[in-house]
Amino acid sequence: MKIIMLGAPGAGKGTQAKRIAEKYGVPHISTGDIFRANIKEGTELGKKAKSYMDQGLLVPDELTCDLVVDRISQPDAQKGYVLDGFPRTIPQAEALTAALEKRGEKIDYAIDVEVPDSNIIDRMSGRRACLSCGATYHLKYNPPKAEGQCDNCGASLVLRDDDKPETVRKRLDVYHSQTQPLIDYYKAAGALRGVDGTRDIDVVFQDIVGILGE
Ligand code: ADP
Ligand code: ADP
Ligand code: ZN
Repeated sequence: MKIIMLGAPGAGKGTQAKRIAEKYGVPHISTGDIFRANIKEGTELGKKAKSYMDQGLLVPDELTCDLVVDRISQPDAQKGYVLDGFPRTIPQAEALTAALEKRGEKIDYAIDVEVPDSNIIDRMSGRRACLSCGATYHLKYNPPKAEGQCDNCGASLVLRDDDKPETVRKRLDVYHSQTQPLIDYYKAAGALRGVDGTRDIDVVFQDIVGILGE
């Protein structure tokens, strides 16, 4: 089962992708997590990516596409995967389609988590992230069991630099101009499924299970 998650920053893609990965036994591949891990380790890729991420801009396609094509070629991804945060531009979607076509494969489902911009600032200002394992929480809607501490790995939770309101507004502009066109791209491919992402996390997940099957 090959799935991509679409939706604005903060729509709940990562939250739902983690649950899908767990239920269906496929890897959760998040380009944002890969970039943040590279920043933490101080790699060349991390240094380049950080300058874009801090401004709320997309990392250039040439730094992103090969990374993902390589990741989905790994042994653990042969049964399928859930891609979270990729593709984010039409050229990225085209690169993914071309890489899959070479192997006679395609994306089965593009799940669009629909949340209006007016909810996003609230979602992002309350988001707390674990930079060790990639888990995310929300102070109000999905709090960790112990304040400031990751349930999975115990690391300290942080407010991401790019989750500050000024940067979130920039990311929303970038989403509308560069990523939203993917909705039509995957509609044309027959893979698009929309879910109302404004409801509780569990309710949204039930909808997704309804699409993917038990
Ligand atoms: P969110 O969870 O809010 O959607 P991500 O963790 O997916 O954010 O991404 C954080 C940042 O990493 C993005 O704002 C962008 O700078 C960069 N990034 C992640 N995925 C991509 C991608 N596919 N193409 C370009 N930049 C990306
Ligand atoms: P994305 O990966 O799309 O950027 P996340 O999954 O990180 O989004 O979710 C953004 C924030 O909103 C997080 O703090 C998360 O805990 C919270 N969140 C996710 N889904 C919901 C929901 N259905 N209702 C309320 N808050 C949510
Ligand atoms: Zn953690």
